[in-house]
Amino acid sequence: MLSTNVSIEQKINLPEFEVGGVNVFVKRDDMIHPFISGNKWRKLKYNHVSFVNSGCKGIVTFGGAFSNHIIATAAFCAENKVECIGIIRGEKPSGMNHVLILAQLWGMKLEFVTRESYKDKGQLAERWKNEGYFIVPEGGENEEGVKGCEEIITELTRSYNHIFCASGTGCTFAGIVKGIASYNLTTQCHSIPVLKQGEFIIDTLLKYFPNAENYAVHSNYHFGGYAKTTPELFQFLNYLASKTGILTDPIYTAKLFFAITDLTKKGYFKKGETILAIHTGGLTGLLSEKMLNDVQKSIL
Ligand SMILES: *Cc1c(COP(=O)(O)O)cnc(C)c1O
Repeated sequence: MLSTNVSIEQKINLPEFEVGGVNVFVKRDDMIHPFISGNKWRKLKYNHVSFVNSGCKGIVTFGGAFSNHIIATAAFCAENKVECIGIIRGEKPSGMNHVLILAQLWGMKLEFVTRESYKDKGQLAERWKNEGYFIVPEGGENEEGVKGCEEIITELTRSYNHIFCASGTGCTFAGIVKGIASYNLTTQCHSIPVLKQGEFIIDTLLKYFPNAENYAVHSNYHFGGYAKTTPELFQFLNYLASKTGILTDPIYTAKLFFAITDLTKKGYFKKGETILAIHTGGLTGLLSEKMLNDVQKSIL
């Protein structure tokens, strides 16, 4: 089993934070592994334990053709000598992208299903379960996933007034809120949904942790929806990278850091407060042809 033996929490020095009088830190979960990055490693950790206990012959999971979860599962399974199959949403593309090529390099078998049948993942999962496979849901969102993400809090080396993460399913956020509650901390937990109508993140949170409190979901930083971007977002990504060295991806973490910077400018935080951003990794999201093209246009 892999382990995160270091928790890197570093201060981010941006003029906006100095002007706002806040201390912003980033927990570098992107450094856990180059491809099993950030929260995907955490979500797979206890799924792997359950898989071993189940006696199943392999892991089946689900995702889109650009999924960070697919790439992470492929690398994780190779390292742990687990047979794995990735069910990919949509027809097989004529040219494979970097995510699918890397997944295959690690030995993941890919099965492409139409968007129509992908909608009925439950039925697909049932079929593979009957064949003796352990199912890890799309994005690694389940109880095991939440449990792994609670450890983000266990590892912290100091306390914060606010903790922020980017949310797709809300699984990581649920883990963070649970982790904070288990230590009786007063830290407020914030989610930045990267999809439209992000209030559904609250449903995910309450599903795993009905007693959740002291949280906030900021649903106006999706930039048009999942994997949607604007020139402003790319300019920010470029600005953050050049001023701090911290690389983000346009799908998740650029939206997260943009939100924290914007909230600071709007006076959302009190002077002297400490804020922690969880860098959940996923940098392969920057490397698709489309994103690289857009990134290039933003470089000043
Ligand atoms: C998958 C992913 C997320 C979303 O995590 P959820 O637990 O589904 O909310 C956030 N950031 C990155 C970089 C991701 O790859």
